[in-house]
Amino acid sequence: MLSISKDIDIQKMQSHLFCQIDVQVLRLDKIHPIVSGNKWFKLKYYLQEAIIQQKNTVATFGGAFSNHIVATAFACKSVGLNSIGIIRGEEPKHLSSTLQAAKEYGMEFHFVSRANFIEKENLKTQFEPNFYWVSEGGYGLLGMQGASEILQEYNDDSFTHIIASCGTGTMLAGLVNTAMPHQKVLGICALKGYENIHHSIQQILPANKQLPDFSILHNYHFGGYAKHPSPLIEWMNALWQAEQLPTDIVYTSKLMYAVKELCKNQYFSSTDKVLIIHSGGLQGNLSLPKHTLRF
Ligand SMILES: *Cc1c(COP(=O)(O)O)cnc(C)c1O
Repeated sequence: MLSISKDIDIQKMQSHLFCQIDVQVLRLDKIHPIVSGNKWFKLKYYLQEAIIQQKNTVATFGGAFSNHIVATAFACKSVGLNSIGIIRGEEPKHLSSTLQAAKEYGMEFHFVSRANFIEKENLKTQFEPNFYWVSEGGYGLLGMQGASEILQEYNDDSFTHIIASCGTGTMLAGLVNTAMPHQKVLGICALKGYENIHHSIQQILPANKQLPDFSILHNYHFGGYAKHPSPLIEWMNALWQAEQLPTDIVYTSKLMYAVKELCKNQYFSSTDKVLIIHSGGLQGNLSLPKHTLRF
């Protein structure tokens, strides 16, 4: 039986790093060591829909270190569905730790060249017509709907800002959907030059509903998606030492860095109260050489 921990908590930042601003972190990473917190939320309604449509196999796309791939494998196994991962790039000699974990959860892989990977609709036609397809990263309405549940339990009206990392923007759309009208939602984009993300988020938000303001910051990608230069690694270690907060190299380390900078640059007022969503992703750190991180 595969289970997900309900042992999520909110950790209040204590050190000088956040300049006395009230900054609290919702630890969705504690849901599971491999299955990234936000992916679990995003997948929920896709799997429900697959079951309603009486499909027995879910197929999706991702890279060799993708949190979405391993989360899909796990989530499918937990509800008795088969899973197929269409993986970008040639089959490696040794599977990455991410793919090894996905394989243990029963996922079957198909490796496709980077050129062919771009042609998703074409790729789909090469497989069984009765697969249930989930788009890369879980982007879409049902993903937004699942992510909407993140705030249901943990939000309270004393928070003035809700801040999260974004890749496809699906989680952020869910946060915008359930944040309170006076709250400002801020996304820290993990991709370089993805200016269109604002539009992608708008597209999956309910149209006929008054929603709070949201904005995306584009200057905290540290060189691009999954790039992790040594200043980022040093920041992750410093944050761990100061707060005992583990972060991942792709998303949450850049998110926490951005919030630290915003605090330093007096973006917040002294009465603001900030809720940061730690969306998980720690399994991705296994791709680093041993002893790079202190946690
Ligand atoms: C996938 C992922 C994100 C990005 O979520 P989107 O909904 O695609 O924006 C953020 N953080 C972590 C840890 C992730 O795995």
